[in-house]
Amino acid sequence: MKLPDCIAIDGPAASGKSTVANRIAEKIGYLYFDTGVMYRAVTWMALQRDSSVEDEAAVTGLAESIPIDVQPPSVEDGRDYDVLAEGEDITWEIRLPEVDANVSVVSAYPGVRAALTVQQRRIGLQGQVVMVGRDIGTVVLPDAELKIYLDASAEERARRRYEERIERGENADFEAILENMRRRDKIDSTREVAPLRAAEDAVVIDTDNLTIEEVVADIESLIH
Ligand code: C5P
Repeated sequence: MKLPDCIAIDGPAASGKSTVANRIAEKIGYLYFDTGVMYRAVTWMALQRDSSVEDEAAVTGLAESIPIDVQPPSVEDGRDYDVLAEGEDITWEIRLPEVDANVSVVSAYPGVRAALTVQQRRIGLQGQVVMVGRDIGTVVLPDAELKIYLDASAEERARRRYEERIERGENADFEAILENMRRRDKIDSTREVAPLRAAEDAVVIDTDNLTIEEVVADIESLIH
């Protein structure tokens, strides 16, 4: 049986996209590619260089010039992959709260999106890929054979993020996470270029009352 060559999975932050996509990719032997890491990497580099994330031209310049690589994990510390920017390992740095707080501003810049979309499309068109993001089904791979849109309420998604942070031994403030989540949703879904939304031909799955295993099973039956 022929499997869909590209599987696009979109949805808001902490809707379960990454975990689900990773498991699906493992089961069917596809590459798992999380496009959010690229926007996070550009944001981290901008914060590092003290160039304000509000400086659209400078941030766009970074997105156009800095090589970002995602590779198999080189360290066993819970990571699914290494994220390298100019060869520097920034796998965990891109998960810091200051990146969460600034990434939506950076990802709304049209020049940043143009630069990263080209790279993502090149990877997607090689096929056998499960690609995750906000605009994969609508913009990056509009011809993907299977498109999924994973949704969940802001409260449920904030609870998941909170628990992830606590499990990693980090400090976490539920109310702050929830507020940040709502702010990010708003910027992501109202921006002019490639806003967060389900493609017309996407299958929408509400994950509020589903376990990861149930979501994976639903998607597997769609694949087959
Ligand atoms: O998925 P993740 O939460 O890591 O994505 C971080 C941010 O990157 C999102 O809030 C969104 O602003 C941006 N993003 C995007 N388009 C994508 C993937 C992520 O705009 N395809």
